[in-house]
Amino acid sequence: MGVLEGLEPKRVFKYFEEISSIPRGTGNCGSISEYLVRFAREKGYEYVQEKCGNVIIYVPATQGYEDSETVILQGHMDMVCEKAPSSKHDFKTEPLDINIIDDHIFARGTSLGADDGIALALALAEVDDPSAAHPPLELVFTVDEEIGMIGAKALNTSLLKGRKFINLDLEREGEVLTSSAGSLIGRMSVPIKYHRKSGENYRIVISGFTGGHSGKEISKYRANANIIMGRLLHFLGTRVKYDIISITGGLTHTGIPREADCDVLVAKADSDSFEGLIQEFEKTIKNEYRANESNISIYCNDMGELEENVLFHKTQERLIFLLNTVPDGVQKMCQEKLSRELVETSLNIGIMRTDEYRFYLEASIRSCVKTEKYALSDKLRYLTETIGGIYEEDYDFPAWEYKDRSELTERCKKVYTELFGREPKITGVHAGLECGIFYSRLPGVDMVSIGPDIHDIHTPSEKLSISSTLRTWNFLSSVLRSMRK
Ligand SMILES: [Zn+2]
Repeated sequence: MGVLEGLEPKRVFKYFEEISSIPRGTGNCGSISEYLVRFAREKGYEYVQEKCGNVIIYVPATQGYEDSETVILQGHMDMVCEKAPSSKHDFKTEPLDINIIDDHIFARGTSLGADDGIALALALAEVDDPSAAHPPLELVFTVDEEIGMIGAKALNTSLLKGRKFINLDLEREGEVLTSSAGSLIGRMSVPIKYHRKSGENYRIVISGFTGGHSGKEISKYRANANIIMGRLLHFLGTRVKYDIISITGGLTHTGIPREADCDVLVAKADSDSFEGLIQEFEKTIKNEYRANESNISIYCNDMGELEENVLFHKTQERLIFLLNTVPDGVQKMCQEKLSRELVETSLNIGIMRTDEYRFYLEASIRSCVKTEKYALSDKLRYLTETIGGIYEEDYDFPAWEYKDRSELTERCKKVYTELFGREPKITGVHAGLECGIFYSRLPGVDMVSIGPDIHDIHTPSEKLSISSTLRTWNFLSSVLRSMRK
């Protein structure tokens, strides 16, 4: 007897339980890939198993749907392996210990992997259901989504005929996702030169900022410690003389920087006014961010007299100029009538450093419109090169662009409304999805992403809603059933 036996939809939960018994952490997709191949063989479907483990299963149309357009159902096989401190679970070898509480399925002590095991279960159940009615299907299962979408990037899209694409990796029921962000990393390097000088050494510290993820939280207009440091240095520079020794801020390009510090030399006679200006600046910033930052702290520590290498004045001016003119944060909101306030284009100046030879800034640029992403990147290049620096682009990742007229979105809207008596929310995300890769490689593709409610994904508290899975199943099979030509 399976733990999930008796739950509706039966086939979905039968497959979900089987999938949950197969270790399939990211980087360990061999067994689940074999399982999918076995499924295809047993049912007599053609399939391709790619070298990396991706599996494509070709399912013929049911009777009467032979002339309908081919539909791709897609999800990723791998799951994030997180466990509670007390758990002894071995993700490499052991099946998940799945259980039910009220309306939810969870795994005892570990993440559940409904992200994205439920996609596999929904797709397999659909083609295994004798009462199902659907166009020709291509089931596309990718490996290792959770560490850089390795499977999707490696997938040979010439193996796919379908141009109607349903991704099943959304953890919110009642939404139909219609776009995701593209991104790239912009690296700005400005050459710097030092000379020897002595004076009173101060360490300026900016800390206590909330930070957050540069995709998810950029719309919250939190303060960026690097940008605030730049503003402080400019504020100081117009009032008192000082020389920069070094500057650092931020840890990753995807994190909104919470801290920054800068070592400077100040003439002993200017010490008091220097300290006073920093206190004044702290008050200004606290006031500006009073609504979204509660722990801002901006201060300086007197480290005593010091002889040290400091930046030449011209170099210092370039650094401060760049920090004060480089764009940061939300650049544009989506103008489409999507149900969620969605950022269209943003960037985050995530890392700031000086080393022996250069001043370095690293930006994470995101946009669901390709041309806006490159325009913003060009702006950074223009700024950097104008002051004698070098600009480089890295990790260019494609967007899934919103389409005003999407037959598939309209169909989903109609079917959902008929089934549940209310319209689904048509939304997008300001983050990268596998969909972006497929969108860029399947010309003319019409794409949506849907899925049941899953809470606390990527944590040991991850849980899948049973009733939401049933509704999502009805929704998916009804959409496919509606595609008879
Ligand atoms: Zn996922």
